[in-house]
Amino acid sequence: MAKKKHARKNVRHSGTIAKRGKTPRGRQKGLDPFLAAVKGAERRTVGHVQLEVGRAGAARVKRLVYPRGFRWSVDMKPIVGTDLCMHAHVGFLAHGEIHIEYADGCVVEHKAPQIVAIEPGHDGWVVGNEPVVLIEFDFEGDTIRRLGMPDAHRHP
Ligand SMILES: [Zn+2]
Repeated sequence: MAKKKHARKNVRHSGTIAKRGKTPRGRQKGLDPFLAAVKGAERRTVGHVQLEVGRAGAARVKRLVYPRGFRWSVDMKPIVGTDLCMHAHVGFLAHGEIHIEYADGCVVEHKAPQIVAIEPGHDGWVVGNEPVVLIEFDFEGDTIRRLGMPDAHRHP
């Protein structure tokens, strides 16, 4: 799969694409299907993350788009108020690359396409020039238990 780092010259003149916190909606080749409005979902933006959320059975299905340059401890921490993100994230990384750092210093790299199962208690940041698109499933306040995730990152 060829990287397209140098293939964005045709859009540089607009001056808005690279702005931090702006999702380059539909501007990047091949990303349109990932960024289009999701049928059955409600859209909101939290800490520069574009979130679409809808219900399916007892679960919620979410599509999250993290802009390039995003870092949880910078963009989300002031809104959430905890030292680290205390959510479990289970789902499918559809586009981009995101790194997760746990409290003990372990860094886990995730690169699309791949399954993700991220334990509570982490920071995370987007790597590279592409936005990250994550499809995630949760059960609101009961997510950790119902997904069978550990309540924190630890080693056996
Ligand atoms: Zn660890």
